[in-house]
Amino acid sequence: MADRSDVIAFYDERMLAHEPDANVSFLPGRLDKRIREILTGLNVPWKYPEHPGRLTAIRSLLETDPIPGLRIEPGAPATRELLARGHIQLYLDDILKLRGRSAWLDLDTTAVSPGSVDAAIVAAGTAALATEAVVKRRCESAFAIVRPPGHHAEPARARGFCLFNNVAVAAAHARTALGCQRVMIVDWDAHHGNGTQSIFWSDPDVLFFDIHRASPFYPGSGRMDDIGSGAGEGTTVNVPLPGGAGDQAYLKAFQELLVPAADWFRPDLILISAGFDPHWHDLALNVSHDCFSAMTGILQAVARRHCEGRLVFVLEGGYNLDSLSRGVRTVLEVLAGGTPAEPGIRGVAEVEEAIAYHIEAFIPPAGGPDPEGPAG
Ligand SMILES: [Zn+2]
Repeated sequence: MADRSDVIAFYDERMLAHEPDANVSFLPGRLDKRIREILTGLNVPWKYPEHPGRLTAIRSLLETDPIPGLRIEPGAPATRELLARGHIQLYLDDILKLRGRSAWLDLDTTAVSPGSVDAAIVAAGTAALATEAVVKRRCESAFAIVRPPGHHAEPARARGFCLFNNVAVAAAHARTALGCQRVMIVDWDAHHGNGTQSIFWSDPDVLFFDIHRASPFYPGSGRMDDIGSGAGEGTTVNVPLPGGAGDQAYLKAFQELLVPAADWFRPDLILISAGFDPHWHDLALNVSHDCFSAMTGILQAVARRHCEGRLVFVLEGGYNLDSLSRGVRTVLEVLAGGTPAEPGIRGVAEVEEAIAYHIEAFIPPAGGPDPEGPAG
């Protein structure tokens, strides 16, 4: 039995081998030609934003500023059977053929380098491994620090830097092989998790809750009235936000919608598609690290109420290396027993101290002399 606040972070260097580079030559084809035209038209140097430095920045922050009690363990590659829990066999055939090659897969900038397919297999396998660790009570909660990310990958299509839908593969694995009945997926990435939504669109046993910047922001899906269909009608919940929305909007959605939805659904496992691009450094939304901390605290309370604290975070986006690495560390700090922050009060105590220090110069204490105003 795991102790409370016992958390494992899963990190594996095999995921660094995914390194698409806009400057290497790709397989000739119409798609490649079209993308080159777009990039040339932009007339700015273009670097693939989803690069290995994202993971190494997180690893190095956890080394220089370690979290007491945090365990870090290696990941594992997914089997084909595991990948097939989220994707159709023909798609897996197509992707596996790309091992050792460079190619553009989608107009929306999804590309592979020779090591990408194996890196993506480790990413999906590591999300499932983290889920097993939590369900089998090796730890209360876990964080799969993976790339390439997954939530845009659909059953038969790679999109938005994503090859395999890591969180969906993990959720389906929990349902199929680990004995979980009801799995809740919370996606707080700035972008809508179109792939995850499509995989569980008709599934009443997976509650998908997604807060994101609204269309026309990428990928353009996730309308409020997209609620699932068939048996799954009502188990997809989308909260689209305007650009620049921040802590108050995210926390209100969590406290007043996510918590009641979770209490209604009674999950026995909660997975989080944890992207850190809602942070203001990534320029789409205006979320602070204190808010990531508070949201983790809310999820931890919900998980402890319904499922013995079982929380599995799976990394999605986040492209500013500073806010990304600090975001992951902030979440881990709460999972490891730290007190969640209270957004909006940072610096207020210091201001109160400054007021107490200065204020008598301007407003005398009751019973004191009248203010004389500035000399002259
Ligand atoms: Zn994102």
